[in-house]
Order: sequence, then C-alpha cells, then structure tokens
Amino acid sequence: MHEISDFRSDTVTLPTPEMREAMASAELGDDVLGTEPTVNKLEAMTADLLGKEAALFVPSGTMSNQIAMALHAQRGQEIICEYSAHTYNNESGALALIAGAQVRPLHGEFGAMDPEAVEHLVRPANIHNPRTALITVENTHNAAGGTIIPHENVLALAEVAKRHGLKYHLDGARLWNAHVATGLSLKEMCAPFDTVSVCLSKGLCSPVGSVLVGTRADIERGRYLRKQLGGGMRQSGLLAACGIVSITKMIGRLKDDHANAHKLAAGLKKLKPLKLDIGTLHTNIVYFSAPGREAEFDGWLDRLREKQVLALYLGTRWRMVTHNDVDGEDVDRALAAWKEILG
Ligand SMILES: *Cc1c(COP(=O)(O)O)cnc(C)c1O
Repeated sequence: MHEISDFRSDTVTLPTPEMREAMASAELGDDVLGTEPTVNKLEAMTADLLGKEAALFVPSGTMSNQIAMALHAQRGQEIICEYSAHTYNNESGALALIAGAQVRPLHGEFGAMDPEAVEHLVRPANIHNPRTALITVENTHNAAGGTIIPHENVLALAEVAKRHGLKYHLDGARLWNAHVATGLSLKEMCAPFDTVSVCLSKGLCSPVGSVLVGTRADIERGRYLRKQLGGGMRQSGLLAACGIVSITKMIGRLKDDHANAHKLAAGLKKLKPLKLDIGTLHTNIVYFSAPGREAEFDGWLDRLREKQVLALYLGTRWRMVTHNDVDGEDVDRALAAWKEILG
C-alpha cells in the first residue's frame, strides 16, 4: 500500500524507476534544430505503433489536440464533436484562440455520437453557413466514464467524414486503455483517422508528453505550429526516453488498472447512498454520485483525506481513477474509508 492512495487521476502517476534510468542514459541533442536522437526515436516508434507515417512529440495532450484541430479547421469553420469532449470543454478555450474554429456539439451515448445525427449537422454549402471541416472523437471518453467508443461507430463516422470531405481526428489520450480492454490493435483503431493524439503522461506514467500522429505532410505543418505555440523543446530526449518506456513497457499492465477499477466500483456500489452505473465502467475511471447529499461532499473529501485517500468530485459527480500508483490494497483502504464515512 502507498503512503497516500491517490485516486484523483491517472495523471498523478510518477515516472517508474526504469524511466529515471532511461533519462539518465538518454542520448541527447537539440530537437528545435532537428537533431534529438531520442525524440526522433520516440516519434518513429509511435508512428509505427499507431500505423501512421509520422509523429510529433509535444508537451501536452492539449497542445496535441489543438495542433490537430488547427491543421484541419480554418478560422470560422466548424468542428463536430461530442458535447462533453475534452477538446471542447477542458482545453481552456484554446480552440477559439488557436484554430479559431467554432464547435457544433451533440450529445452522445456513453460518449459515442450517432452517425446519422452527425450527418445531419454537416452544413450544406450555402453562403450563410459555416463550412464543416472536421469531426473529432474521444476514445476512451473521459467525461462519459472512460467509456470505449465501439469500433463500428468509429467506422460509421469515418464514412460520414469521407462522404462530406471532412477531416477526422481522434483524441486518444487514453486510447491505450481502449486497446487493452478490447484487444483491437492500435493500428486498426487509428486507421480510420487522419490524425490521432495519444498521451504518455497518464496511465503510461511518463512525467510529460503526448504524441500526435498523421501523414508526413500534416506532421510537418504541425511541427511549425508547435514552434509557434512555444512547444519547441531542446534536450527533450530526457522526456522522450520516458515515453519510450511508456509505449514499450507500460501498455499491457493497464489491464490491472481496469481490474482494480472494477473491484473499487463493485465495493462502492454496495454503499448507500452512492449511485454508480457499473455498465459505463469500461476501463479505469469510476464515476458515482450521491443524489441530494451534495452539501456533504466537502466534508466527505476532508474525511477521505484524513484516511490518506484522495478523490475528486466535479459538480455532482465523484471520480476515482485507477493507475500504476494505486494497487489492490489502496482499493481496500478506499472502500474501508468510504464505508466508515457513510456509516
Ligand atoms: C488529459 C486529456 C487530454 C490532454 O490533457 P493534457 O492535460 O493537456 O495533457 C486530452 N483529452 C482527454 C480525453 C484527456 O483526458
């Protein structure tokens, strides 16, 4: 068991001992000058793993998504995405600031958008309308509960994009979790998309970094945008070295996080007055609520903290996320703490 059982997010994962060793021995250069051997290696390995021509190492998932959206949508154009998508809600308004595109959101089912409904939102060519440029998908879908977007849905949306000449981007911050849970290959999951963004700094434990993959031409334009956004980094091989450990060693173990999330959810589900839908628990994010008890949430948070358990509540929902730095004993501790608090 850890000193603190921190279930706030999988971003709290610390770099593994192997990552610290990889940092110490990484071969370094200057990535802005184009000669960073370890960054080049991570980019080549990630492009290969995801089945795309080229890759770009960036400081964050936000930058990766924002570069992709700026590549595909011009100022005044429109992007279709799910209502609670991270790209739209949780990137500090960057979409308006950087791409300058507007959003046409629609409510999905467990994060998945209905292809027919999406097709209805594609704007007909008319001088009064914005031009629809891009569809984005989030897999796994964070706000919907770390849910997996069914591959048939991904393919059906790809058909809509193709019929209307739209670009298609995947926010795959936690695509790794969907891959491990479904057994679908990463290449197959990425094939329908023009660009895919993946995070190394969540469940895969790197301290910093995301990767954007796509065609060589898109990634070259993306490299320019990254520099404009202040994302040009120098001896970033120190970080890329961790990223290489992430993609070669840390993917398979995500199944342990899913098992721990199920154990946690099964325990929480038994506690009154918590309400938890186990049907939306596909991967490592556990959401639950306690209708009518919201005024007590701050107190519960404090009492959890006294018991060395950290969790988050966002509005009316609690969130607990499993990851490499919480194990089965941390889950037991969290369940015991909740049981005591709820009496
Ligand atoms: C975390 C996350 C991102 C990127 O976030 P950063 O904090 O900028 O790395 C993008 N999309 C989703 C779904 C995420 O959960």
